[in-house]
Amino acid sequence: MTPCESASIWRPIESAPRLWLFLDYDGTLADFAPTPDHIQPDATLIALVTRLVQTPDLRISIISGRRLSHIQQLLPIDGLMIAGTYGIEMRAWNGEAITLVDLSTVRPLLRSIKQEWQGLIAGQHGFYLEDKDWSLAIHAKDAAPSVAEQVIREGRRLANEAVTSQPREQFRILGGNRFLEIGPSAAHKGRTIDFLFARYPMPDALPIYIGDDDKDEEAFEIVKAHGGMALAVMPRPRPTIANCRLESPAATRRWLLELIARRNAE
Ligand SMILES: [Mg+2]
Repeated sequence: MTPCESASIWRPIESAPRLWLFLDYDGTLADFAPTPDHIQPDATLIALVTRLVQTPDLRISIISGRRLSHIQQLLPIDGLMIAGTYGIEMRAWNGEAITLVDLSTVRPLLRSIKQEWQGLIAGQHGFYLEDKDWSLAIHAKDAAPSVAEQVIREGRRLANEAVTSQPREQFRILGGNRFLEIGPSAAHKGRTIDFLFARYPMPDALPIYIGDDDKDEEAFEIVKAHGGMALAVMPRPRPTIANCRLESPAATRRWLLELIARRNAE
């Protein structure tokens, strides 16, 4: 797969009149934290993102599954647009707050699932239940594989059962072998990008999205449909619709420094 450092990738980026950069946080700009509630601001990263904010003809949005308040603490930078909880809670460049879903419509169901999931992981080693207000997640990266699989399967069954009593498609359940999350269907990075394109049009801009997981792939699709570019951060190659690959968050940072240098050199 094409490395994002290739000349063929830089060409359209250098010639675009303006850029709109979308950046995921964990696994993209920074290595994964020990737990998702872990907040450790990184001065080097804050300096880098501040320079991006100051780069001419470049708009920047951070889009993360973390809560808005977490990202605000990780990147306390004026003029930065942040979409938290996959875009459910946002703060625009001008400080405007945007909420895509009314918390009171989702909380009752999440509260009852939380109770069931707490029962499920009680006394089990290596599980972490994260409550992001608009969504709930079980993280099982430190659990034994067979136990993780069994707990995630049962957690999914309980969530599916609870969701069937709700208005159609109000919730979505996401997950893999080591992760399970339930949240509003609107908590979707692709839908959020669509919303942002409609709300803050930037017609002559080339959109560029950098992300590392399957939730980012949903955004890659929308960005590419709008003529933009998708950059996937992946230590090991995997199936992706991205245009090119960055090997690690450290490689993303080097690439962004190069972007600043090239855009400022014009
Ligand atoms: Mg990520």
